[in-house]
Amino acid sequence: MTAYPHLLAPLDLGHITLPNRVIMGSMHTGLEETKDWNRVAEFYATRARGGVGLIVTGGMAPNAEGGVFPGAAGLFTGEDITNHQTVTTRVHDSGGRIAMQILHAGRYAYSPDCVSASAIKSPISPFPPKELDADGIEKQIRDIVTAATRAQQAGYDGVEIMGSEGYFINQFLSLHTNKRTDEWGGSYANRMRLPLEIITRARAAVGADFILIYRLSMIDLVPDGATFDEVIQLAQAVEKAGVNLINTGIGWHEARIPTIATSVPRAAFAWVTQKLMGKVSIPVITSNRINTPGVAEDILASGAADMVSMARPFLADPNFITKAASGKADTIAPCIACNQACLDHTFSGKMTTCLVNPQACYETELQITATNTAKSIAIIGAGPAGLATAMTAAHRGHKITLYERADQIGGQLNMARVIPGKEEFNGLVRWYATMMQHPNITLKLGTEAKADDLVDYDEVIIATGVTPRNPDIPGADGPNVLNYIDVLRHNAPVGARVAIIGAGGIGFDVAEFLVQDGESPTENLAAWKAEWGIGDPAKTPGGLAKGGPQPTPPARDITLLQRKPERVGKRLGKTTGWIHRATLKMKDVKMLSGVNYERIDTQGLHISFGEALENPQVITADTIVLCAGQLPQRALADALTAIGITPHIIGGADVAAELDAKRAINQGTRLAARL
Ligand code: NAP
Ligand code: SF4
Repeated sequence: MTAYPHLLAPLDLGHITLPNRVIMGSMHTGLEETKDWNRVAEFYATRARGGVGLIVTGGMAPNAEGGVFPGAAGLFTGEDITNHQTVTTRVHDSGGRIAMQILHAGRYAYSPDCVSASAIKSPISPFPPKELDADGIEKQIRDIVTAATRAQQAGYDGVEIMGSEGYFINQFLSLHTNKRTDEWGGSYANRMRLPLEIITRARAAVGADFILIYRLSMIDLVPDGATFDEVIQLAQAVEKAGVNLINTGIGWHEARIPTIATSVPRAAFAWVTQKLMGKVSIPVITSNRINTPGVAEDILASGAADMVSMARPFLADPNFITKAASGKADTIAPCIACNQACLDHTFSGKMTTCLVNPQACYETELQITATNTAKSIAIIGAGPAGLATAMTAAHRGHKITLYERADQIGGQLNMARVIPGKEEFNGLVRWYATMMQHPNITLKLGTEAKADDLVDYDEVIIATGVTPRNPDIPGADGPNVLNYIDVLRHNAPVGARVAIIGAGGIGFDVAEFLVQDGESPTENLAAWKAEWGIGDPAKTPGGLAKGGPQPTPPARDITLLQRKPERVGKRLGKTTGWIHRATLKMKDVKMLSGVNYERIDTQGLHISFGEALENPQVITADTIVLCAGQLPQRALADALTAIGITPHIIGGADVAAELDAKRAINQGTRLAARL
């Protein structure tokens, strides 16, 4: 008897039966743009072998003007069809099913040639769109329908028509972006004409035995967004027009409410999908912040949806379903919703991968194979770098002794996990603990390895991490000064007024830790919705609560400072930095840049600004917390070198600047793959 009966129940769509209730949601990885179709095929085939019910590809442009950026992958030519056949054949040979998403970006296309319902520029794009005339609209419909027929020729099992997230079709649906007065604007019947024309004609073109999914924006989270009556009306109309499945879209990309970041509670939007249940007779898929089989099972068991869509969890672990089905859910590598290696990469023009799984999108390049020559390997430090190395090397057949000075594994991850909004890091540490139970790993907690202990190993790997940098500020040795480890690990008492020196990732983390009292909103959906101003779309169009965000009062009076004369938080994650800045702003945290630290005394922190030391002032504070970066901890590496042993040095012990778990895990995994 499985623990996940709803999740693993098949779904009969008439002409095809999906083996379970899980869709791998669409993700733009950047793989298609490499034009290495073997690599694309291997990425999807790996997920197919892992048992997911149905894969949806990254968004494919139906024409040049609809691409998310110039040169974005699409399905325009006969050659494109042949390339896509490589993917569909490999997926089918691997026992999977795959649908192609058709994504017309409309005004979100990063191009001066972008088009939309009305010539209204998006706040997240520099390009105002051209307003389409009737012929222009007709061309877009034709191109989208043609993309569906080409997808069918390419061997896909279906297509998903992207109608949400503020893209082209959504732009016609919403008064926010559609100011037309012709038959494509005004009344809701006119505004929904575009998706209905597309679906009706696509269904006629592809016939009955082809999956049509419509991604429907159920809560726009922008002003003048859809009312829930409109959502229901559209859902019923798309069903009638011929779709097999309705997928849930949450929030436009320009919405100033987080929808998938790690601080969003798990399954935070299942209640929105649930409102549609019973209003249509085709299966409805829910989405967003579903990352374990347990969370997915609970949603399905509660009747909130017929299927779940998970995207990033299949980057973290392609074998999510087979592991869940075989009673090994605790070995599923967890997606912690950090965005650091997936969306942050996509939006920086880099290849998508995964912080937890560096093999994601590198399946053909980073191969982890059994070794022919098992070695005895000592790894010192059970932070992310050491853990990733131990796991991978043990899996390959090496014998690992993992030394950790502390009485628990995790290293710096243990600081992340106490930050409100970063609770997912608990799951990551738990998963590593499970993976350390491998028979090839001997874990020595509470053990400080000395150089002499390490002389008999075939390889020694130093993953000893970092020590906090102590900035040279007069008074920094005073009793009112703590560093971030005192605060996050040792629960040192902190006063009501706080100055934080250093506004990198850790400065922000410490500010979020100190400004929040009591339960983290990430653990309490009602509190989180109130904090961000999310209402019921049945009561307010678009689901923006009347009265806006209602954050709880700050627990402390906090000032966050940096020396660089740039916007505080500018270097945080591309897709999540704005959330951290907004969170702190809502709690009245003051952010100062371009400061000089003059001295610390019982009054607080004395600063001035700029090279001319202008505007001297004191930040009155009971506690000053140092978050001024880190230095590599290399004493053991140096001691080994002194006795003639050359260790491998990875993670923060290698390079402390700009260190994060992504680089540590990647470096450790790649080292272990070649030992
Ligand atoms: P960091 O991001 O390098 O920031 C260090 C901060 O210290 C900067 O604000 C820097 O700003 C300041 N600083 C550097 N030298 C200083 C000095 N001598 N005196 C005073 N201030 C000084 O490092 P971190 O915050 O310690 O974080 C470490 C790593 O963990 C980062 O790479 C980060 O990516 C990662 N991390 C990531 C997250 C995340 O959410 N993704 C969260 C936590 C940590 P100025 O030089 O301008 O003063
Ligand atoms: Fe999930 Fe982070 Fe991996 Fe992206 S990088 S898939 S958010 S764990």
